[in-house]
Amino acid sequence: MITLQGNFKRSFGLQKLSERLVRRLTMDRAAAVSRSADFALLLEPASKAPEGCLSVAVEGSGCEPSGASAFIELPRDCDHVTAGDVVRFEIAKQRFRILYRKNSDHNNFLVTERCDNYCLMCSQPPKSANDDWILDELFDVIRLLDEQTGGFGFTGGEPTLNDRFVELLKLCNDLITRCCDPCSLERAKVFRPILRRAVGIDCASRFDGWDSRLFRYFINPRPCRPS
Ligand code: SF4
Repeated sequence: MITLQGNFKRSFGLQKLSERLVRRLTMDRAAAVSRSADFALLLEPASKAPEGCLSVAVEGSGCEPSGASAFIELPRDCDHVTAGDVVRFEIAKQRFRILYRKNSDHNNFLVTERCDNYCLMCSQPPKSANDDWILDELFDVIRLLDEQTGGFGFTGGEPTLNDRFVELLKLCNDLITRCCDPCSLERAKVFRPILRRAVGIDCASRFDGWDSRLFRYFINPRPCRPS
């Protein structure tokens, strides 16, 4: 399994950066400097970090910071990172998470851990905490995606709980190739026309065609569960 998150191996010059950053990795130095709010420079092996942008290297690549330049070194097992990947950096915690991999055909974005169902087979029982920040962050992530990107998915929890999810889908525009899986049949009924109007695609629920008693048994068993 490849490493998608962890702690910085080394870092320098991060004092002036925001606590949480989302950046697309690029090897284009000019773009990294001129659009430093969007890009981080993925350093060539054995190179020095330039001034004016955040530079990212992988342990063992022989890269070094210089002057007061912002520099983050990821652990050795992140040697799969490439230009086009989108990464979240948590500066105070010295943590990173790779949110999108350009070389993967299986990118999925978690929208929320909340859900209005409680399925018997759920492997990640819903949480109640407000996690709207994840959706906020996804607006940044989608804007940063490579225009040639292939399909990707949105997961939850129940992504359609937040009305702004449709705004996010509009932003995806031509990038959308497949969507979408509201677990609640009622929610799918409401969401389908909205989605069709907003982005012109159809939405299916994996429970289409289920008998409603079967659906209630498996998907909404809240009353049967101990509190
Ligand atoms: S709809 Fe999905 S996230 Fe919600 S309880 Fe069911 S399996 Fe879990």
